[in-house]
Amino acid sequence: MTDQVTLYAFNCGWFQCNPGYYVEGDEGPQMRAPVPTYLIEHPKGRAMFDTGMGQRYRREQDNPLPADKIGLEWFEGMDVATRLKAINVDPASINWIINSHLHIDHCGGNAHFPNATVIIQASELETARNSEQRYLYTAEDYDTGQPIKAVSGEYDLFGDGTVRIVPTYGHTPGHQSVIVKLAGGDVLLAGDCCYTERNLDVMVLPKATTDMELGMETYRRLDTLRKRGTHIMFGHDGLQWKHVTEGVPFLL
Ligand SMILES: [Zn+2]
Repeated sequence: MTDQVTLYAFNCGWFQCNPGYYVEGDEGPQMRAPVPTYLIEHPKGRAMFDTGMGQRYRREQDNPLPADKIGLEWFEGMDVATRLKAINVDPASINWIINSHLHIDHCGGNAHFPNATVIIQASELETARNSEQRYLYTAEDYDTGQPIKAVSGEYDLFGDGTVRIVPTYGHTPGHQSVIVKLAGGDVLLAGDCCYTERNLDVMVLPKATTDMELGMETYRRLDTLRKRGTHIMFGHDGLQWKHVTEGVPFLL
């Protein structure tokens, strides 16, 4: 059963910022981190975990974000729809979108999936709708007309334990991650509950955490899972991403 689940990773753009943004206290030149999306294929359907960012962050190759600027960017061919089509997956065939949370760099590609149901924690949806931080929560990204399934806490997508949505609160009030059971073991797609492997190694949260206590609780849970052999894919980790082969079945 478990070998019937296939996972694909894609980088749909870049998040450029200083190291201290990820790990409070770190210093150095600006870093470029990936903006990952994942396709999960299961005999009962296809799900995306996060969808990248919207059209407004697209830049031309010869006009990238200036090296000293913090921000998001993607270039032609990097959007999630183009990435899927390149492996012969029609975006219209996607049944579910699991958004880790509703910040601009995680749901900006939702509009590419007209037939999907969006699965989100109820508390995240409420936060997005009531937020005054419109630069982080933008309705044109997360409010794209598909049905929304609001869940609270854990949710087993296919009822067989192969794709488990788990709450990982802290970065935002309703952040969630996914644990995918592959033939070779479990992979936890963290999203922004943990930006980089270094965050977990030093157990230091970024300043961009809405609830430090919940964030640290999430780190402790991830650390325990990691020690037990779960492979964690971090949210924006340029170093880890160097070892990822995109667009092919993810192997452990
Ligand atoms: Zn992010």
